[in-house]
Amino acid sequence: MIVKQIWTANAYRNFNYLVACDQTGEALAIDPLDHEKCLDAARENGWNITQIVNTHEHRDHTGGNDALVRSTGARILAHKNASDAIPGMSRGLGAGDVIKVGKTVELEALDTPGHTMSHVCLLSHTDHPALFSGDTLFNAGAGNCHNGGHPAELYKTFSEQLARLPASVSIFPGHDYIHNNLRFTLNREPDNRRAQELLDTLQDQDPSRAFVSTLEVEREINTFFRLRSPTVIAKLREAFPDLPDAPDERTVFLKLRELRNSW
Ligand SMILES: [Zn+2]
Repeated sequence: MIVKQIWTANAYRNFNYLVACDQTGEALAIDPLDHEKCLDAARENGWNITQIVNTHEHRDHTGGNDALVRSTGARILAHKNASDAIPGMSRGLGAGDVIKVGKTVELEALDTPGHTMSHVCLLSHTDHPALFSGDTLFNAGAGNCHNGGHPAELYKTFSEQLARLPASVSIFPGHDYIHNNLRFTLNREPDNRRAQELLDTLQDQDPSRAFVSTLEVEREINTFFRLRSPTVIAKLREAFPDLPDAPDERTVFLKLRELRNSW
């Protein structure tokens, strides 16, 4: 499996992806908003884009579909409940469905509601697994729930699915938000040295050669995985004085999500 992360350099800071089979050159495009950059990357590598997966229905993830289908004839795949919002879908995905790319690549669909209620993440079946996490999980952050989402569902997705993936999973998110997110982590957990070190290291990062984290790293730097950190809880109590003595993880997650909205 070859993964090409494509930096769109747009205002929304989207990442698009091509996932290719190294034997057949078939490729799958994930959220190909910048269809020209996706086509250029495929051409440079001699790949044929045969499928598109939209992680969810938001326009900054689906806006390149029409043009890419016109140039390649690729089929569009997305969450099975997204067909009203995504024109031209030819396959609806549910939890556990497997998408084959060429001969060597298998991607498993995870049903991951929260950012929207029709959101999929893709997990590769490879020795070194990769997660294409759309707008559910970002580097050092979590998706918002403003446009069709639900914070309690997002918490369930984090706790019941993402947190249980292997620590070695590489994370490929839908946007480059790492700087802002690390600043939020440090705002909530000022003694998080790993987050501070990473922010220092990535200060001048070129997003076209972006740092790729793993779940192991996210557990250290992502507030939304640090629901039992004494500092996170103590700081949260400053904002929410009624917080119980030993708040459950769901409560902490939802309060953090609320604070992130206005931060
Ligand atoms: Zn979105």
